[in-house]
Amino acid sequence: MASTWFDLVFDIPADQAFTYRIDAKGESAVGKRAMVPFGKGSRDTLGFIIAERDAPPAGLSESAIKPIRRVVDAEPLFDAQDIALARWLAAYYLCGIGQAITAMIPSGRRMTEYPSFGNNDDEEFAAAALELSAEQQAALTMIVGTGDWGLGTRDSCSQSQRVDNPLRLQTNIPSPQSPVPSPSLFYLYGITGSGKTEVFLRAAEWMLQEGKSVIYLVPEIALTHQTAEVIGKRFGSAAAMLHSGMTPSERLAEWLRIRRGEARIVVGPRSAVFAPVRNLGLIVIDEEHDGSYKSGNTPRYHARQTAIRRCSVEGAKLVMGSATPSAEAWKLMAEGTIKRLDLSLRLAGGSLPDIKPVSLERAEGCLTDELKEEIRLTAQMKRQTILFLNRRGFAHLYHCPSCSYEQTCRRCSVSLTWHKSKRKALCHYCGYSEPPPSACPRCGSLEAGYRGFGTEMIEEEVRRTFPDLRIRRADADAAGKKGQLEETIAMFKAGLVDILLGTQMVAKGLNFPGVRLVGVILADTGLHLPDFRAAERTFSLIVQVAGRAGRYFPDGKVIVQTLRMGDPVITRSCTIDVAGFFDAELVQRKALNFPPYTRLIRFNARSKDPARADAAMRRLASLAVPLIPPDADMLGPAECPIGIINGNHRRQLILRGKSMGTLHAAARILLERYEQSRDSRVYLEVDVDPVSLL
Ligand code: ADP
Ligand code: ZN
Ligand code: ZN
Repeated sequence: MASTWFDLVFDIPADQAFTYRIDAKGESAVGKRAMVPFGKGSRDTLGFIIAERDAPPAGLSESAIKPIRRVVDAEPLFDAQDIALARWLAAYYLCGIGQAITAMIPSGRRMTEYPSFGNNDDEEFAAAALELSAEQQAALTMIVGTGDWGLGTRDSCSQSQRVDNPLRLQTNIPSPQSPVPSPSLFYLYGITGSGKTEVFLRAAEWMLQEGKSVIYLVPEIALTHQTAEVIGKRFGSAAAMLHSGMTPSERLAEWLRIRRGEARIVVGPRSAVFAPVRNLGLIVIDEEHDGSYKSGNTPRYHARQTAIRRCSVEGAKLVMGSATPSAEAWKLMAEGTIKRLDLSLRLAGGSLPDIKPVSLERAEGCLTDELKEEIRLTAQMKRQTILFLNRRGFAHLYHCPSCSYEQTCRRCSVSLTWHKSKRKALCHYCGYSEPPPSACPRCGSLEAGYRGFGTEMIEEEVRRTFPDLRIRRADADAAGKKGQLEETIAMFKAGLVDILLGTQMVAKGLNFPGVRLVGVILADTGLHLPDFRAAERTFSLIVQVAGRAGRYFPDGKVIVQTLRMGDPVITRSCTIDVAGFFDAELVQRKALNFPPYTRLIRFNARSKDPARADAAMRRLASLAVPLIPPDADMLGPAECPIGIINGNHRRQLILRGKSMGTLHAAARILLERYEQSRDSRVYLEVDVDPVSLL
């Protein structure tokens, strides 16, 4: 019987492909998933068919090649260009190509129709009603213009054709290291509420009219829905959505609609950067600074880095935007690699709010007199307040003043948070809980108790202080029930709630006319963290939260409560002095040799057995020493700042260097040598360009 041979890759940390056969003539299976016998016990395993071959690999007898049990997909999910991107991802983020493909494509098996934007038959795009401001127009002209402002070459367009029929993949896929033209990179740097969205949408419209496709990235959760709604309205059935709230089968259905070219503008969070659009013209990254653009699992890819790669290869433009750019983007703008486009005015009738830092030192509870006064005033004006605290629960540290006992998690090296409503002291890292002690468990002192405050305590205090006002809390606890967060936000939007209290969830992207006052309960919660990005994160968070006020009326007011009056990070966030902040911050990063002046690769080992974790790290370090490039150094091995999570002891080693090229080369050899005799009870994870070192 005539056989056809295929190469498959699997969700494992190896770059190897494995050959299988199909004993019947038929359509090519490249780009589809298949169930095959694999590994110990030849268990039924899902693999990705990445190539068809003319003959079995040399040295492998035909009879040794196992048959594919079942091809899963009716039509291909990926093509040569996706595979090339997966290869790049694997090379850059030091993972297996199968792991890369797994991260890229939806895991759904069955197609379900997703009632997204499909029912708009009107192919004319709804015309935008707004007239652009002069700044918006100038920015748009730059973006859709020639793009010739000195950098990007346009000769890359020939590469932008996708392989429509992946029947036979070319084997000479360009290596991930091969040079690609620098793409046109733009940055809409504008204060919150300056109309960045409208510019993104116009640029997208222009691209669609040119016959090209658009990927529009937004941070996870809240913004996804808001932006998706706007895009759905404006682009009708040309729009598709890919986000984590959908079931895998719904995502698969959207994915195929995009691959077929039925949808040409895709909106979604991080993973939408892989959307298989044809003829990519533009990638938008809204709120570029947002932490959710970096994946927390292997491969720990960053959507920005991946977008830059795609835009280079496919000859597309990249437009990012934020009021608080990341340090990396700020530096690239200063150097001219990214073209900065400024938006300096609020266009919907608002202006930047008046932001006032207030010391929390001598306040009786969690609310200063200034904040209480403004809440009262805002309510009298029949306007609304947002209160922000980046810490949920009631109180977060049980401490005994006589013996210094602290209540920590049994499985993690963090303190438990007292959740009054659940009557539990809870670990936010692993979910462990225990009842709150009535006296110090070590010495019996009755002085012991919880300190510090979370959103739950603020809610209680606000209710006590303002019994007449309507309050809703939006945090991971309150949003537990499906649809509850949406309901809270809808009620706030409709004016049925006076005070919206919450964590990060209320800090991002909300755009409500009624808001006059924003209160930051404690601005410095993240400032002391042992992470070189602590200041950057704190600064950006305060500016973003403050940006929720005064969007439509020029009387916005922000009270920033702090225990660190005079701290330059707090002061600069209260004056929205982004340039001043980065001037100081970048000097410090440079002096300390941290990104964006260096690049990092972090190796993270974890094991139930601390001795094994230590031994593995010592071995990794001794293997690394002879490999460290001349312009690089090594930090650690050391215990991670959060030393234990869920019973796993965590250790880290960081390679730090001037160039990612040499770091990559060293890391690749290092991993290879480490793998030769690794301890199977230690799990090693690699993080290229880590955003957090906790
Ligand atoms: P950003 O994304 O910069 O935070 P948005 O895009 O949310 O800001 O815009 C803030 C508000 O300004 C929105 O309500 C939007 O409708 C309005 N807006 C945007 N462009 C214009 C314009 N050219 N004229 C009037 N209003 C505008
Ligand atoms: Zn005690
Ligand atoms: Zn825990």
